[in-house]
Formats: sequence, structure tokens, C-alpha cells
Amino acid sequence: MKDATFGSEHHRARKRFGQNFLVREDIIHRIAQAVNPRAGDALVEIGPGLGALTGPLLEGAGQLKVIEIDRDLAARLRERNDARLTVIETDVLKVDFESLKPANQKLRVVGNLPYNISTPLLLQLAHAHECLQDLHVMLQREVVDRLIATSGTRAYGRLSVMLQSVFQIEQILAVPPDAFKPAPKVQSAVARLTPNASVPDAATLKALENTTRIAFGNKRKTLRNNFKKVLSENQLRELDIDPGARAETLPLDAFHRLANAIVDLPPD
Ligand code: SAM
Repeated sequence: MKDATFGSEHHRARKRFGQNFLVREDIIHRIAQAVNPRAGDALVEIGPGLGALTGPLLEGAGQLKVIEIDRDLAARLRERNDARLTVIETDVLKVDFESLKPANQKLRVVGNLPYNISTPLLLQLAHAHECLQDLHVMLQREVVDRLIATSGTRAYGRLSVMLQSVFQIEQILAVPPDAFKPAPKVQSAVARLTPNASVPDAATLKALENTTRIAFGNKRKTLRNNFKKVLSENQLRELDIDPGARAETLPLDAFHRLANAIVDLPPD
């Protein structure tokens, strides 16, 4: 596949890194306004790219750590020689967010995310919730729809259950393709995620990952069928779950009861 070049920046956008760079000033301004960075915030940007958001974030917080996988883009950012900016050149999926956290302060994470890794990255951030104050992320609109979907709707699935178990989630901005260069084929949206006051413990969250994988394994099958190897019909009934129901009809608390029941099962 051919990559696109554009603008005076002369950077060849790399599809494999999901590079669609924000170019619309009004959108950049509105995202920065929504994040509202304050002096001293422990701010982390995932995928700064050509720095569209980096400037406004840095202005507000006075310090910023950025995580960028693309060697050339990381080098450009280092060339700024800005002591307020820490460039971490690595794959964000390998980052231990706890290690970026200052003592006594939680991280504020911002990113126009590479859409090709959005699901594993969101799950990683869910597991890292204890070190997060909030997240502002640009995602494919469809993914934001899934994040905020309630049970009984078509968009409700694993991501909805996993992320809503950890975060309060709101869509704060719809973003059209022309806000980026190159323009993606899909609509985008920015969401704000704030950790819930009470979050399942790490073992239960892991179990919830397994539970949702099994429950949504075959969307057309009933829970009786999807859980056949794990829980009997009677066990499902004891958890007040109808074995004849389908996963997309189960509310969050039912998934939590299931996760608590299978917490000790080994992962497959
Ligand atoms: N923030 C910039 C903007 O809004 O214009 C760039 C956004 S672009 C959608 C995604 C950025 O994430 C790119 O700079 C890309 O190189 C970077 N990226 C892609 N995969 C990454 C990964 N696994 N770890 C860290 N950065 C990644």
C-alpha cells in the first residue's frame, strides 16, 4: 500500500502506524479545551505524531511525556530541544503506565490513537486504571459507540462491558474525516474516560476479560451454549442469569456475577 505525503512537513504518513494527522485548528483547539491541561498535571500523550496536540498540551501543563513508536517522528520531537518535553520512543503497548506516574500524582493520558491498536490499548489502560486520573482519546466513532453502548443495543459487546466496568465514559466531540491528513475513511470521535469510584480488583478484571470472551464468543448462541464448558445451566440460574439469553442482553452487573463465579478458572 502506498503511504501519503502532505503539507510542508514532508513526512510520509505510515499506514502501519495508523497515521492520520490532525490538521483542523478548530478541532485541535476544542480537544485541548476539553482536556484543559493545568500547570503541573502529569500529562502523557500517546502518539504525538507531528505534534498537533503536543503544543497546546505542553502550553497548559508546562511538562509532557510523549510515547511515539515512529523513529522519524520521535527524532523530530527530540530535535525541538524542549526541556519540558520527554520523548519516549517505544510501542505504547509495551509501556508500564505505573512507571510514568510521579509519586502522589495520577496520570492524565491523551491521544489521537492509532486505530489499529485501539482495542488492546484500551484494555491495557483499563488494567492500569489505578494510576490514571483521566483519559481523552480520539477513536473511530464506531469504537466510541461501542464504549458507551448499553445492554440490548447492537453496539454492546466486550469493549462496553470491560471499559464501563472501570470508567465513566462520555463522548465529547464528533470529528469528521476532513480534520485529518490523510483523511481516514471513517468518522472519529473524542471520548473522556474517568475511573469509577469503585472498580473490580485485578483478578476479577482478568476474569471479566475471560467471561466476556466466552459470552460474546459466538454472538448468535445463547449463554447456555457459549458457557457449556465452563458453567452448567443450573450454575447460570443460580447467578440469576437466564441460560437462554444472549450476551448482548446482559447488563453489567450480570457480567460481574459471572466473572466472580469464574475468577478461579485458568485462562484458555
Ligand atoms: N497526535 C497526532 C495528531 O493528532 O495529529 C498523530 C495521531 S496518529 C492517528 C497516531 C500516532 O500514533 C502516530 O504518530 C503514530 O506513529 C503513533 N503510533 C502508532 N502506533 C503506535 C504505538 N504502538 N505506540 C506508540 N505510538 C504509536
